[in-house]
Amino acid sequence: MMEKQHHEVVVIGAGVSGIYQIHRLVELGVDAILFEADEDLGGTWYRNRYPGARFDSESYTYGYSFSQEVHDEWHWKERFSPQPENLRYLNFVADKFDLKRHMRFNARVEAMTWDEGARIWHLTLASGETVMARFVISCMGVLSIPTLPRYEGMDDFEGDAFHTYWWPKEPVPLAGRRVGVVGTGATGIQVIAEIADKVGELTVFQRRPNWSTPLNNAPISEQEMAAIRARYDEIFANCAESPGGFEHIPDRRGFWNLTREERVAYWDELYRRPGFAILQSNFVEIFSDEAANREFSDYIAGRIRERVSDPEAAEKLIPKDHGFGTQRLPLETHYFEAYNRDNVHLVDLSTTPIERITKTGIQTSNAHHELDLIVFATGFNAITGAFDHVEIRGTEGRVLGEKWRDGPSTWLGVLTHGFPNLLMVAGPQSVSGSTNFPRAIEGAVNWVTGLLEHVREAGHTRIEARAEAEREWVDEVIRAHERILLRRSQGWFTGYNSNVEGREAGKVRYQAYFGTGPKYAAKLAAAAAEGYPQVEFR
Ligand code: NAP
Repeated sequence: MMEKQHHEVVVIGAGVSGIYQIHRLVELGVDAILFEADEDLGGTWYRNRYPGARFDSESYTYGYSFSQEVHDEWHWKERFSPQPENLRYLNFVADKFDLKRHMRFNARVEAMTWDEGARIWHLTLASGETVMARFVISCMGVLSIPTLPRYEGMDDFEGDAFHTYWWPKEPVPLAGRRVGVVGTGATGIQVIAEIADKVGELTVFQRRPNWSTPLNNAPISEQEMAAIRARYDEIFANCAESPGGFEHIPDRRGFWNLTREERVAYWDELYRRPGFAILQSNFVEIFSDEAANREFSDYIAGRIRERVSDPEAAEKLIPKDHGFGTQRLPLETHYFEAYNRDNVHLVDLSTTPIERITKTGIQTSNAHHELDLIVFATGFNAITGAFDHVEIRGTEGRVLGEKWRDGPSTWLGVLTHGFPNLLMVAGPQSVSGSTNFPRAIEGAVNWVTGLLEHVREAGHTRIEARAEAEREWVDEVIRAHERILLRRSQGWFTGYNSNVEGREAGKVRYQAYFGTGPKYAAKLAAAAAEGYPQVEFR
């Protein structure tokens, strides 16, 4: 049977955002369909099957907040739930609301072109099929385009090699094998810690170390889950009030008002607390005051020295080029202890860079490392990458990738001038990348749905962010960015990725809003309450 070729709304992507977005649209009675490039739903949690992949947000703050039934029926088994369980959760939600019938899998959107006369988008799928939609909602994710290094000989290796994002579904044999891991971001740190005692030999190829602190995971008993269930409203209210979308509240006693002993006593406590407490509940000065940041970074360096028995290895694992919390903090479980094992070897690429990948391993400037498996934990073309993978042509044929060549430009991360009727959930310059993802995502979906309701009630057929409103928002994004020490870091937050042409260190792309979740939510709410003066309706 021929599929219907015209819809009021097309949603792209069946990850955490898309699942909730299609639910809201179906609930409203909108004629909507979701296209997902993969063969099933789950997005991040469908793809990242590497050993050790798990939440680093508390599970009960990561799950959706919108359904009492889901709260009543779902039992989070660990404080930081692992990938297979997270994927089960997303399927559980989708099944509960019968959402899969609104989703089409293996349906990659390759291009979309705005038709000004008809006020519709023409979408082209990889199959060649074309579909029309009045509105398109991008739920394509912020970390959905993995990037591989551009070393010579990338195709020469005769063993197994893959990016962590593409970790196979079938079990990957590890026992007795010589495994190389390239990359020590949040992903590399999870993989390394998890497989160190399961492989024959593990060689870690580290270009720059990251600050990393204990996840402090634990099981959640039936009794604890009952207590969490009883507290869900309070949990989500706390998340909505905190800058990062967690239950952790920043410490505003004043870094310099306390003695060094008092600060250290507090840090000792934070080091034992679960998750991002050490980041989010720390003294606020750490993120803007260099001296405060240095003192705390030194404290964490001391922790690393305590945990790594070889002092030379410990020094290599301590970042020297950036302070704590100025790049995305990876959380770990026995990561540093992995380097105390005889079968784990650390290769410092800052002194002995990779020259090429060979048939049998990795050649650095001073040694050849024989390997059976290479794991590339080398990150993503973050935040704007997914948009570059679809040719999006707006008014007058302008391509979005061209508009955003030197960095994105949006109004509140949800609309971008010149691309009418394209709405973005977790878009560039929102807080979706800079705070607890799903909390920001739910807020964005609700807001986008509210805007669509407004449009439908008024009978409009075209919406576009005003250029002036967009300029003001970009200025605000830059101001927020410049206020914190993160402005000098080289992580994906600032758009750095050596594997993508033109993304050199020091060339900042203002991709995420760092003005805090509550401030961002207030901007969204105010725009809606005022009748969206920043949007032109026709
Ligand atoms: P990432 O933070 O961008 O880290 C990539 C790593 O690969 C860095 O160590 C980088 O070194 C290295 N690298 C990149 N290209 C390289 C090359 N050509 N040669 C050698 N090394 C290279 O990526 P990620 O670790 O995948 O994490 C991305 C984000 O995903 C995280 O920040 C987080 O938001 C999310 N994540 C979340 C969880 C979770 O627990 N929920 C887990 C994993 C990831 P340089 O630093 O020198 O560039």
